[in-house]
Amino acid sequence: MKVFKFGGASVKNADAVRNVAEIINEYNNNLVVVISAMGKTTNLMESLVKAWFNNDNEVSETFNLFKSFHTEICDELFNEGETPKTVEALFSELENRLDKTPSFDFNFEYDQVVGFGELVSTRIVSEYLNSAELKNSWIDIRTCLRTDDKFRDASVNWAMTEKLVRHTFNFKNERLYIAQGFLGSTTSNLTTTLGREGSDFTAAILGNILNADDVSIWKDVPGVLNGDPKIMKDAVKIEELSYREAIEMSYSGAQIIHPKTMKPLHNKKIPLLVKSFFSPKDNGTIIHKVDYKLQLQPVFIVKENQVLITISPIDFSFISIEDINAIVNIIHKNRIKINLIQQSAIDFNIVVDFPETDLDLVLESLSVNYIARYNTGLTLHTVRHFNAEVLYEIKKDKKIYLEQNSRRTARLLLKQ
Ligand code: ASP
Ligand code: MG
Repeated sequence: MKVFKFGGASVKNADAVRNVAEIINEYNNNLVVVISAMGKTTNLMESLVKAWFNNDNEVSETFNLFKSFHTEICDELFNEGETPKTVEALFSELENRLDKTPSFDFNFEYDQVVGFGELVSTRIVSEYLNSAELKNSWIDIRTCLRTDDKFRDASVNWAMTEKLVRHTFNFKNERLYIAQGFLGSTTSNLTTTLGREGSDFTAAILGNILNADDVSIWKDVPGVLNGDPKIMKDAVKIEELSYREAIEMSYSGAQIIHPKTMKPLHNKKIPLLVKSFFSPKDNGTIIHKVDYKLQLQPVFIVKENQVLITISPIDFSFISIEDINAIVNIIHKNRIKINLIQQSAIDFNIVVDFPETDLDLVLESLSVNYIARYNTGLTLHTVRHFNAEVLYEIKKDKKIYLEQNSRRTARLLLKQ
C-alpha cells in the first residue's frame, strides 16, 4: 500500500479537487490519502478562533467566509445548492460551538475550531470521489491518532495509535481511505493538532504504522528544489536526497516538508517522494536511504523576520550552563523556536522567529536576571554544501549580524 498527502494548494478550488481525483484514479491499488484544509483555510480559521476568543464581532463574518468558500467549491463539484449533508453537518457543528463562550485556554479552543478546516475538506473530497465512482472510506483520524494534551503541538502516543491505525486502515473491504492530516485527539476525545503544516507528519505516521511501500507528498513544485523558487529564479530540482539531508534542510526552514516527517520514514526505510500535482507522471524528488556519497550542489534556505536576542549576565559573569538552561526555558515556555545559538564569554545569542506572542513579554522575563538586547527585521540564510563564492554573493553589501559555519552548513544572519 501507499500513502499520498495532498496539501492546501492541491485542493484550493474545484478544479484542484478534480485533479486530485485524477491522480488517485491513476493509482489503482491500496491507498491512504491524507488531506489538509483547502487553500489558506487554516489561516482563516486562526483569525476565526482569535476573533471568538477575543469576543469581537468578526466571528460571524469570518465564519461566513469559511462557509461560503467551501459552499462555492461544492456548488462546482456537485449540483448547485446540493452541498453534501456531511459537510452541512460540520458547518452546523462549528456554528454551534462558536455560539458558546470559549474557555480561558486559547490553545485548547484553537484546536477545537481550527480542525474544522481539515474535516470539511476531507468530507468534500471523499464525497466527490464517491460521486466519481471512486469508492472510498472517510476516516475521522481523531479516532485513531492519539496524542497527549499539549494543544497546538501535541505529541503522538505511538503505542495506542499503532493499534488503532492498524485496526482502522485494515483494507479488508476497502482499497481507498481518505483522512485528515494535522489532527489527533486525546484519550478523552478532545481534538488536538500536531503544529502548523503537520499533515506531512500525519502521512509519515500512517506510512510507518502501515508499512507503506512509499509516501508521496504532492506539491505545486516539481520536487525539492535547491532554493525557494519565489526568491531564487534559477532554483533547480534535486533528484535524490538522504533522510539526513532532508531533515537538515527542513529544520533550517525549507518549507517543502515538515521536519518531523523524516523520522518515522527513516526508522522503517520508507521512501518519501515529493511530486508535482501538475505533472504527476514526472519523477519529483526521492528521499530515501542512500549508501553512497551524493554530490550535492549548494542548497539555499532563507528565513525572514528573524530576531537576534543577545543575553548577558547583569554582573559581568560568564554565561554558565545554569544560565543557558534558564534562558532556554524562558524561550521554550513562550513557545518560541530557536533557529540558531551562539555563545561567547558573556553573551548568549539566539536567533528566533519573530514571536507571535509579545516579544516585550519575553524580553521582560529575560530581563529579570539578565541584560537582553535585540534586533528585529533580520534574515537568516542557511547554505548547505556551501563554498566561498556563494557566501560572498549572499553577504555582498549587507550588514552581517552573526555568522556560523560548520562542516556542511553555513548560517548568516543579515539585514537586507
Ligand atoms: N492545514 C494545516 C496548516 O495549514 C496543516 C497542513 O496543511 O499541513 O498548517
Ligand atoms: Mg500545507
